[in-house]
Amino acid sequence: MSIPSSFIDQILDQSDIVDIIGRRVQLNQKGNNFWGICPFHDDTNPSMAVNQDKQFYYCFVCNAKGNAINFLRDFENLDFVDAVESIASAVGLEVPKTHQTVDTTQALNINSRTAKVYEEQLKSSKGKRAIEYLKSRSISGEVAKFFNIGYSLDEWEGLFQILSKEYEKNDLTDSGLFSEKMKDRFRGRLMFPIRNIKGDHIAFGGRIIDEGEPKYLNSPETKTFSKSKELYGLYEARKLNSPLQSLFVVEGYMDVIALHQNGVTNAVASLGTAITGLHISKMMRYCKNIYVAFDGDLAGRKAAWRAVENGLSILREDINISFIFLEEGHDPDSFINEHGKEAFLELANAATSLSQFFIETVKEQADLNTIEGRSVAAKFAAPLVSKINNQPLKEAYIDEVAKVCSLDFAKLINNSSNNYSSAPSNRQEEIKPKSSSKIARKAVLGIFTALIQHPKLASEIIFDDIKKDSKFHFIQPVKDKFQKDPNVIPSIVFESIEKEQIQNVFSEALLSDINLSAEDAKRMIHDCINTISKSEKDREVILKEKYNMQEITSAEKRELQQVILRKENHTEADKNLLRNLSIVSD
Ligand SMILES: [Zn+2]
Repeated sequence: MSIPSSFIDQILDQSDIVDIIGRRVQLNQKGNNFWGICPFHDDTNPSMAVNQDKQFYYCFVCNAKGNAINFLRDFENLDFVDAVESIASAVGLEVPKTHQTVDTTQALNINSRTAKVYEEQLKSSKGKRAIEYLKSRSISGEVAKFFNIGYSLDEWEGLFQILSKEYEKNDLTDSGLFSEKMKDRFRGRLMFPIRNIKGDHIAFGGRIIDEGEPKYLNSPETKTFSKSKELYGLYEARKLNSPLQSLFVVEGYMDVIALHQNGVTNAVASLGTAITGLHISKMMRYCKNIYVAFDGDLAGRKAAWRAVENGLSILREDINISFIFLEEGHDPDSFINEHGKEAFLELANAATSLSQFFIETVKEQADLNTIEGRSVAAKFAAPLVSKINNQPLKEAYIDEVAKVCSLDFAKLINNSSNNYSSAPSNRQEEIKPKSSSKIARKAVLGIFTALIQHPKLASEIIFDDIKKDSKFHFIQPVKDKFQKDPNVIPSIVFESIEKEQIQNVFSEALLSDINLSAEDAKRMIHDCINTISKSEKDREVILKEKYNMQEITSAEKRELQQVILRKENHTEADKNLLRNLSIVSD
């Protein structure tokens, strides 16, 4: 799905990156920037700077960087559309419906047509057993209609016969509704269409009516459906409750429907999977109170604990997540049918908070009366507490675990943070600039800093002089943007830079604390351009020396090739050398 760029500009304009990051990572203002512990590498000192004017963040250690959308994508592991949706809902905007890409449109068409077919089949004479089943579960026709509940015929080609007349085979194959041999995936089942947040039918769940396995069956992952991020009933819950104050997360669609039938219209279900971080992040977008209501048996408790593990990294103090454990033998469906709405809502009032559940589980790990038991419990808790990115919350958890285990838990976490860090650390492996190019890097930084503070300098004549020089090509897109519009937002300029290394330097320049006068900025640009020209010459001399001494590595050979190729005039010696380099380097 594409989102109009004007809408993206609007949400970036109406939201505040300091607020968005600050709700997830503790930030302190120092100088022009806010600083926090970077959640993207194993950080101990605040290395991440967030600039409110420029609506931009940058980590000086792992180079994580970008605008609020970039941050959310990495922090909550969201795709672009979900990150935009998340910010939009926080500032009270709806992402506009836009034209789908062609092939998703067709997939959604097929699903929506299928939902209609299933609904018709439920009403037909063949759907009698399904209707009886719904009645036996006390589900009214009105509720069945609201959720578009349907019935899939107990036939191998019940759906295929209809759809094959209307759609291309390729599109039907991609729909997830058929087997490889084009047999109906869902047969003899009560059908629950699954909708995304906009109300499009994206997949189906089916419950068997007669005996048979599996009891519940869902669509496979398709272009339109990813079970780790979709929640059954979220569209319907939002439709009826605006704004949504709270959500109950349950295990199955029948739970959602039974709760709805009994007047609890704000329940959602994960779809045959544990509650993931993406699920939690999605719910956090629309409401502040989340109740996980699972069966009271061991499997239910385990599933609830998975939700804790998956949610720790994105916990926030303004969101309450609690757990309802039903008495053994009950699920939300059977409970509400037996005890009614009020009794169910009572359970919510008495729910166990996530922190309580966490501490209880830590306590259950071992006998806390012994030293050994307390260290077992601490060891269990350490990697989990390390996952929490929200600093005040993390400290509160550390305090609590320390009390339970009677030891200096903070120390344990710090000592073991290398082992336990859950943050992706691959960025750290990024090659740091070589010392020889450090000077050049500083010079590039100088040029960017000067341009960001005095964009009008982009029209300086010196930029014309270096226009054809390929070693300055990286400056061109930046210079062009500033020249065209001196008031352009720096993060838009940032988007025009392709090379990651150059993006990093630009990000650093954005967060610079130096304040330059126009005069100083102009001088800085000239000095830095000279430095780059000169350092390139120095590099050429050093590499040629190494080549002559036969100490040159193959990477350096390629570099030397590039340096020579970038020169405007080539001597005979250069040409010879180029020939030799291309022979030996391949
Ligand atoms: Zn970092």
